[in-house]
Amino acid sequence: MAEVKTVAVLGTGIMGGPIARNLSAAGFDTKAWNRTREKAEPLGRDGVEVADTPAGAAGGADAVITMLASADAIGDVMRGEGGALGAMREGSIWLQMSTIGIAGTGEMEALAGDGGVVFVDSPVLGTKQPAEQGKLVVLAAGPADALEACAPLFEAIGAKTITFEEPGQATRLKLVLNNWVLSVTVGTAETIALAERLGVDPKQFLAAIEGGNLDSAYAQMKGGMMIDRSFDDASFPLRLALKDAKLVLDAASGNGERPALPSAIEKRLSQADDLGHGDEDMAAVYWAAGGESVDR
Ligand code: NAP
Repeated sequence: MAEVKTVAVLGTGIMGGPIARNLSAAGFDTKAWNRTREKAEPLGRDGVEVADTPAGAAGGADAVITMLASADAIGDVMRGEGGALGAMREGSIWLQMSTIGIAGTGEMEALAGDGGVVFVDSPVLGTKQPAEQGKLVVLAAGPADALEACAPLFEAIGAKTITFEEPGQATRLKLVLNNWVLSVTVGTAETIALAERLGVDPKQFLAAIEGGNLDSAYAQMKGGMMIDRSFDDASFPLRLALKDAKLVLDAASGNGERPALPSAIEKRLSQADDLGHGDEDMAAVYWAAGGESVDR
């Protein structure tokens, strides 16, 4: 399979925008499409050509990246008239980088098969800043020749690539990682709320763990946001964290059993979303852990 040189990025939000910018900076011929076109337009200054339709971006591309909010959004963007799939060259590569869980990934793999394109399940670990710095961790599962053809692309957006042969395996690891990220975030929120209820300065909690085995850069970062009540500059919007909590809970549940910790995490994020914090950073889950109006 020839090396990937032309790329289309569908979805230029918090993650897709910097990914498109870094691909263009690395010398890939890069096109992009976004449902709200104005949000993609600044990418033009970085050499990215902004298209009017998904098909307009995907036509002629060696690889098409989807970085969208949900499996439903991806289905809408890939299928039908003006959809990307109809414009993609037979044998070209679809890099599905959004987080959509096991069933969603299976659905997209089948769609790719029907469309005659090569599917690579390739979610990423890392948030806004690693995306901007080209330091994501790419989890990529697909045919070996497609992974080889995409290696320079992965290098342009990531610090590390972990590969698998079976599509779906990358998404499984992504769910495992998100279970960890969400556990740390919600655990930090509950701990800060507990400190405040006990009359302990939560800064002393962060100071006590700092630099030791119990420390975590993530707890310091998200904990600081919680203490400052500073959630407006979202690296990872709470509504997407809730979507991921549901995907983890689905994956972890079986035989009618819903495991306790993923259930509690989903409940807290859902409460914070109901309180109106969906567009804020997921650290705003603090309001559900510490707020007075939720059922503990
Ligand atoms: P975001 O900034 O909210 O961007 C979401 C994108 O999806 C936007 O381009 C949005 O278009 C588009 N979209 C939503 N609904 C759509 C629909 N029905 N039809 C077409 N386009 C639609 O989110 P993000 O943080 O970049 O996340 C994108 C994906 O990456 C998600 O699956 C997320 O879970 C995953 N992810 C995020 C992070 C993170 O830290 N942020 C990290 C790893 C993975 P508009 O601009 O028109 O709304």
